[in-house]
Amino acid sequence: MKAGVRTAGGSDPVEVAIIGAGIVGLATARALLARGVRSIRVFEAERSVGAHQTSHNSGVLHAGLYYRPGSLRARLCAEGRERIFRYCSEREIPVRRCGKLVVATDEAEHARLDEIRQRGEANGLTELRVLTRREFTEIEPHAGGIAALHVPHTGVVDFAQVARAIRDDVQSAGVEIVTDGALLEADQEQTAWRLRTPQGVTRARFVIGCAGLQSDRVARMFGVDPPVRILPFRGAYWALHSQRADLVRALIYPVPDPRFPFLGVHLTRTISGPVEIGPNAIFTWSRHGYRRGAFRPSDAIDALTFEGFWELAARHWRVGAAELRRAFARRAFLREARKLLPGLGDRDVRRSRSGVRAQAVDREGRLVDDFLIADADRSIHVLNAPSPAATASLAIGEEIARRAEALSP
Ligand SMILES: Cc1cc2nc3c(=O)[nH]c(=O)nc-3n(C[C@H](O)[C@H](O)[C@H](O)COP(=O)(O)OP(=O)(O)OC[C@H]3O[C@@H](n4cnc5c(N)ncnc54)[C@H](O)[C@@H]3O)c2cc1C
Repeated sequence: MKAGVRTAGGSDPVEVAIIGAGIVGLATARALLARGVRSIRVFEAERSVGAHQTSHNSGVLHAGLYYRPGSLRARLCAEGRERIFRYCSEREIPVRRCGKLVVATDEAEHARLDEIRQRGEANGLTELRVLTRREFTEIEPHAGGIAALHVPHTGVVDFAQVARAIRDDVQSAGVEIVTDGALLEADQEQTAWRLRTPQGVTRARFVIGCAGLQSDRVARMFGVDPPVRILPFRGAYWALHSQRADLVRALIYPVPDPRFPFLGVHLTRTISGPVEIGPNAIFTWSRHGYRRGAFRPSDAIDALTFEGFWELAARHWRVGAAELRRAFARRAFLREARKLLPGLGDRDVRRSRSGVRAQAVDREGRLVDDFLIADADRSIHVLNAPSPAATASLAIGEEIARRAEALSP
């Protein structure tokens, strides 16, 4: 896959096949094009691009505050965030750098705000300020809490819209996107992979797996034995009724629980205007478990036969039970949300949409924190791309394209 090489068409293999047209797969196609690769085919299982995590998230362009300095998440989030801001202004996609508040509701959380600020600074963020209640209520007059960290770099966008714009760009540069094209099987030939989808057979010299909730399964089709399994975590949102939307100007976040990679239920004024509260994080028995109580036998068996699932359950069942209670009981949910927004009335919210996170878990039951990208024989696999992977997508694409160039024969 050296830059500038073109394939002749016909039955010749494509240079690169990408499995999954979420924002990460599409950004990877874009980065490969920028490196001069012209023969790229993207396979997407669904009828349209960005149908899963890319279109079921909070739409927050993260600053890169919490991540371990030096980690892939820290580096690619900061880089990707600025790339998305630039890309949106070039393509005239609505985006807003609205800033966010991380609100401490007691003294223990107050002490953690300073640690978070220091970590953010270690990740290159400037202008982070811990504000008193009087100061932060000038930014968010209705927020609760005793102190808050102000993060001016954070923004909001519609990642599905960004993904569609990238699709249009890459398609007009010659990338073929095959929808209804779930990869069913991959066989290794001497110099290429033979890929079978409902749309026929394609041969590809190099394959990049960006399959989100199915990424471990796709990796296994290429002979990779992933050290992790994807466990799906459903995140449900509530929405503020429009007449109460003035309770939130931008973004109000809690101080996150350091034991988990999820940031906690937060308040988001979305790019299109409505204010959402969520998402929670509850294990679901289906990798497409958008509905409460969804169950898919093959996904359940995959989880139950994985030793990491049992380790995780043994360690965190209390937190899981509390999340479940809040998910089902409106009053428990409201009690939690009122810590951030004390003026929230019983009738101010309604249940809204949900998303399912692809979270890699290792055999010891640890939720994998960092992005995980595995290099293999003529293939690369994104095995963990949780939040902030949408923010980081353009930088993740660039990272993968660089690795693919180095690995290709
Ligand atoms: C509730 C929630 C809130 C979030 N909030 C944020 C946020 O505010 N900011 C942020 O930066 N990130 C956020 N994220 C994370 C972000 O959405 C994801 O990290 C990002 O979308 C991952 O993109 P992806 O392309 O890897 O995965 P996806 O968008 O899931 O795409 C993977 C694609 O692969 C396809 N696929 C799967 N199997 C196959 C196959 N066999 N053949 C062909 N195609 C296949 C799928 O159909 C899918 O379209 C959130 C996620 C969730 C769920």
